[in-house]
Amino acid sequence: MPEGPEIHRAAEKIRKALEGKVIEDIEITLPQFSGREHDFLGKTVNKVEARGKALLIHFDTFVMYSHNQLYGRWTVNLKTTEPRKWNRSLRVALTTDKHTCRLWSATDILLLEPWELSGHPYLAKLGPDVVIEETTIQDLIEHMNQKTYQRRRLKTLLLDQGFFAGIGNYLRSEVLFTSGLHPDRTVSSLSNKEKEKLAEQALFLSRQSFDVPGITINLELYDKLRGIGLSRGHARHWVFTRNDKECYECDSLIIHTRTGGRRLDYCPVCQI
Ligand SMILES: [Zn+2]
Repeated sequence: MPEGPEIHRAAEKIRKALEGKVIEDIEITLPQFSGREHDFLGKTVNKVEARGKALLIHFDTFVMYSHNQLYGRWTVNLKTTEPRKWNRSLRVALTTDKHTCRLWSATDILLLEPWELSGHPYLAKLGPDVVIEETTIQDLIEHMNQKTYQRRRLKTLLLDQGFFAGIGNYLRSEVLFTSGLHPDRTVSSLSNKEKEKLAEQALFLSRQSFDVPGITINLELYDKLRGIGLSRGHARHWVFTRNDKECYECDSLIIHTRTGGRRLDYCPVCQI
């Protein structure tokens, strides 16, 4: 499942193709929206934004909300390019003077009035988004200081989109490593300094992995590892999927566990 940095990168492509542009052609195959084509035609897209794992396309009088769940996928092409032939069904195609953005296979698509956004059950529950630039270390610290999180363990909290939106499975292991925190720690056990480090690393790694797709390790170390022959997949993380290999900081063997049914890897010495 894509994580925050991947979602925001996909949104960036759609934003470049649609924002400020007029919709010249539209195809909607979902029966619940038949007849709604005229809401789009000739209208300008004001803004495209990702919130958690949802994508919002804002028009003057309504917002198209979509959440890709497991199967949904967006593609962006020049409008002259033939759509891809694959085993996904087209849901929506939005065409401007230059591009066509297509949403495939998603089932969670809604046309909302702008005022309905804040009450939408998925959006209302999202915590601060770690990928967007507006989010600060202070925002994350204030959010984690809420009473409801104090007894919970970092390993479960970091996958909760209500805690930090945008952190997914690989970022969970990586942020815990660069923060030096054991996955079983609870929020209430953290010192102020540790909270600051966790917030700083959640922002830093998510943004690096947005800018340099999927790479969470220090970039100099990444180049060095690539230089000695490691593949991109083997060189890009500090601990994630590196179980039974040596920690780059202390040479201990990385431990593999599963929590919430998903992989979590950590260093037993660097993370306390
Ligand atoms: Zn270590």
